[in-house]
Amino acid sequence: MPIFNLEFSTTEKLTMKSSFIAILFCFFTVSIVEAQERPLRIIMIGAHPDDCDIKSGGTASLFVEMGHKVKFVSVTNGDAGHMEEGGGMLAKRRIAETQEVARRLGVAYDVLDNHDGELLPTLEIRLQIIRKIREWDADVVIAPRPNDYHPDHRYTGVLVQDAAYMVGVPNVAPDTPPLSKNPVFLYFQDHFQKPNPFEPHVAIDITPVIDKKIHGLDAHVSQFYEWLPWIAGYADEVPEGKEERIAWLKEKRGGGINDEVRKSLEKWYGPAKAAKAQYAEAFEVCEYGSQPSDEELKRLFPMLGK
Ligand SMILES: [Zn+2]
Repeated sequence: MPIFNLEFSTTEKLTMKSSFIAILFCFFTVSIVEAQERPLRIIMIGAHPDDCDIKSGGTASLFVEMGHKVKFVSVTNGDAGHMEEGGGMLAKRRIAETQEVARRLGVAYDVLDNHDGELLPTLEIRLQIIRKIREWDADVVIAPRPNDYHPDHRYTGVLVQDAAYMVGVPNVAPDTPPLSKNPVFLYFQDHFQKPNPFEPHVAIDITPVIDKKIHGLDAHVSQFYEWLPWIAGYADEVPEGKEERIAWLKEKRGGGINDEVRKSLEKWYGPAKAAKAQYAEAFEVCEYGSQPSDEELKRLFPMLGK
């Protein structure tokens, strides 16, 4: 008795033929899309293992949904961000939280092993950042402005600015090949006024992905439900239940849209769509790095106007 019956009926043959054509079609479609456009590569650099998530978790989610590649980097390991825990054990807990965020948002998440609360703009850390930007082959780099209230945020801003030209210089960090094209550097939004207020050159409507962003933040249990409420004096507000916590976090961290950001949304999306936006994230173009035209910004932020 034969083990395999290789005789097929006409119907089976037809089904097999159409399946084969369908598979072939899918293969070629994917190949054509890939051949036409390399996915954009975005690297967002924050001081702590939740900064990128707070400032641009929505924009990152939109990039990922469109098939582009996003990496978050925390320049410190977060080992000071708690009122009861600290040191290596806290750093490990926070690294695990970042990897859960990576899973939830579909981003890569790296944590550099520098102490939280003690960051300085040293040459050693500048070289760490230059290597991260080069290894990611970044088209876009986003970081804090260097006039933030927190010294770690401020020095992260300085460190990334200090890397902006050097990423293309072959003799600096010669173990990592330099970028052939200087990326566009931008700043995360903040509310600091001196020496100059933040300018929202780009504003992204993140209303469609706000729940995803909040779901990402929710993975930082040590921060949003423990440390940040404690240091800001509202620890008694934190709800117990999982769903209650998510709703509370959305209320707390969803954020409003100020007049300047609303104007920028109008420029990129038109007044009708901008008026409907409930949540937004904005970015300012840094004067260092490549200087993009509006057309180039639309290419680099393909969710604009959509
Ligand atoms: Zn921070």
